[in-house]
Amino acid sequence: MSEIKPNVSAAADTKGENAGETDWNAAKAAFENLKSKKPRPPKPQFAVTIAVSSRTLFNMVEERSIFEKQGVEKYVAHQVEHEDEPLKPGPAFPFVKALMNVNSRLRELYPDSEELFDIVLMTNNHAQVGVRLINSINHHDLSIERFCMTGGKSPIGYLKAYMTNLYLSTDSHKVTEAIDEGIAAATMFLAEKENELSDTQLKVAFDGDAVLFSDESEVIVKEHGLDTFFQHEKKFENKPLAQGPLKCFLEALGKLQRKFYSKNERLNCPIRTYLVTARSAASSGARVLKTLRSWGLEIDEALFLAGAPKGPLLQKIRPHIFFDDQMFHIEGAKELGTISAHVPYGIGQKYHKGTKIIEQPKQKE
Ligand SMILES: [Mg+2]
Repeated sequence: MSEIKPNVSAAADTKGENAGETDWNAAKAAFENLKSKKPRPPKPQFAVTIAVSSRTLFNMVEERSIFEKQGVEKYVAHQVEHEDEPLKPGPAFPFVKALMNVNSRLRELYPDSEELFDIVLMTNNHAQVGVRLINSINHHDLSIERFCMTGGKSPIGYLKAYMTNLYLSTDSHKVTEAIDEGIAAATMFLAEKENELSDTQLKVAFDGDAVLFSDESEVIVKEHGLDTFFQHEKKFENKPLAQGPLKCFLEALGKLQRKFYSKNERLNCPIRTYLVTARSAASSGARVLKTLRSWGLEIDEALFLAGAPKGPLLQKIRPHIFFDDQMFHIEGAKELGTISAHVPYGIGQKYHKGTKIIEQPKQKE
């Protein structure tokens, strides 16, 4: 990403070979020159784009139940009837609020830069429901200008068009589809209880294997046990692990963190990242640290739990979001009030608490 923005309209003018294209370029240039007191959303090529579904941003449990039990017509009628009643915050809400606080700090330091977080609301809701969503966004003072109402279609094409750095949804099928397309994505759940979170610093916690890294080492643990895994990791200590589905998001956070460091704000940086891994430091930790180093990525805190539960430690960190590929870690974290996001990737999906899930053959009728 460059600080110097390309002069898109001027470059395009020279290419405009027919009147239609020139008109379009002129319209685009006029739009870009419009002045507004409201900050403009940054262009996707400069922004760190976070796409959230309406059910992760807001708590729509009641509305969803109307949709499922009474059908789409009753659901839309309910939303229209209640459109002046703001929706309550959902699981991604504190994370989105924290992103906006980081944006305020970035705008203070770099008033003309478009290297900011940009939030896109990705929803397959009926357009009639859009009014309630807009009213809720304004009520909660969120800056979300980009809406993508996909009308029930897969969001993947839109995620790519917006150059999405992270997609959060409550629908694990859509999340899996996004991960398969190489987009960082995770499934969110409504918190069972809520911890108080920092409103000055965005905290993001990542598991290592099958989240930041590929599941290549996880496969060894699952199939050959811990001792073979320790030997393997020692042997390949200097061979970086392949990247996992969330690596690019950590990289994007790192780019924004460096903008604070270069203004001498390292100690006061509003973004903090954590690696929370079940690996043991002495026997298998070096490889992950060396992998991060080989990628040129820093993580602020690396916590090696050597198999201990992650929930109590996360309760101390209080991240705005914690990513893990294994449901039992997610469940343990959620129980203690940590906002958790499941990354449905890798061999861990075939296991539950260390035991392989045996798929029952279908009964013959
Ligand atoms: Mg893992």
